[in-house]
Amino acid sequence: MKYIYLDNAATTRVAPEVLEAMTPYFTEYYGNPSSIYSFAGKSKDAMEEARATIAGILGAKPEEIYFTGGGSESDNWALKATAEAYAGKGKHIITSTIEHHAILHTCEYLERHGYEVTYVGVDENGIIRLDELEQAIRPDTILISVMAANNEIGSIQPLKEIGEIARKHDVFFHTDAVQAFAHIPLNVDEMNIDMLSASGHKINGPKGIGIMYIRKGVKIGSFIHGGAQERKRRAGTHNVPGIIGMAKAAQIADEKMEERMAYECKLRDHLIERVLAEIPYSRLNGDRTRRLPNNANFCFRFIEGESMLIKLDQKGICGSSGSACTSGSLDPSHVLLAIGLPHEIAHGSLRLTISQETTMEDIDYTVDELKKIIEQLRSMSPLYEDFVKKQK
Ligand SMILES: *Cc1c(COP(=O)(O)O)cnc(C)c1O
Repeated sequence: MKYIYLDNAATTRVAPEVLEAMTPYFTEYYGNPSSIYSFAGKSKDAMEEARATIAGILGAKPEEIYFTGGGSESDNWALKATAEAYAGKGKHIITSTIEHHAILHTCEYLERHGYEVTYVGVDENGIIRLDELEQAIRPDTILISVMAANNEIGSIQPLKEIGEIARKHDVFFHTDAVQAFAHIPLNVDEMNIDMLSASGHKINGPKGIGIMYIRKGVKIGSFIHGGAQERKRRAGTHNVPGIIGMAKAAQIADEKMEERMAYECKLRDHLIERVLAEIPYSRLNGDRTRRLPNNANFCFRFIEGESMLIKLDQKGICGSSGSACTSGSLDPSHVLLAIGLPHEIAHGSLRLTISQETTMEDIDYTVDELKKIIEQLRSMSPLYEDFVKKQK
């Protein structure tokens, strides 16, 4: 059976060109880039080229890019190392209520270790409240960490404005840009970003590789201790194939960004329009326009998310309710609760995230099947029956 893969926010397919670029670094140029002999120089040169490519996309300097083991590691590093290095200035951190768990659970960890965290709320569309953010800043605030774009509802945050606020109050600004990097334009100088996390596998690159951008002058220490790799800031033998793969994926994504954004927006908007018009008691979660080109997230009243996903799976459609990390738990998404949805509605959510490989036929097939599934599930729901009777 052919799968229709609409879970690109969870992970993506490695592009053939990416795999092709990586392969020689497994089998031919397998040298350790930290070694002296010229054979290892091949991998070192390629790695430095990859670093420069990624720096170029972000408007950063190559020496400000550090390779890590992925988005979660970069998020942990940014928060924990900033907390440690700047504890003398203060122990207060500001973040948002809709962050990825790599940020939220790290904040909870820091709270257990003597730090204070303020969780700034978002509006009904999932956009951070800037006035609340600025009011939360105190003399002991050391860091603001707000994601660039949300992984569940796709809302894009006003990074430039957040960066301006952080700069004005002399507080560092970190952004989890895992969903945004190479998907939408980002520039660390224009947006006053001091630290940024990104990941390979959300951009058609390999899993287990990520980067952290650290602005020159931010004096955070190492998170993984050991060897002297990454200017002594991230120990561990370099994942050279992963590094090459992530840079290749980023380069392709960056070159085709405008074209891909336009294509994905067209599909996304068609999906949203059809669902809202053809499925009664459905709603779109997240901002209609300030949203990632590949993201659609809906709630359907009187529907339980899990049953909907299983039925979609039987039709070969891969979607998710909330994030990959929370599926399997029965708690409703913290993001949907943060935008003000009641529990019973948040339970019936569906996230569909497309890619440049998704076609219009895929979208139409998905909506056709989804309509049938929702009708079928509702026909079995006594609550829905009562509700429809009352409407009449
Ligand atoms: C996927 C994701 C992460 C985690 O990245 P990994 O590379 O899988 O560790 C962090 N933040 C956001 C917003 C994500 O979507």
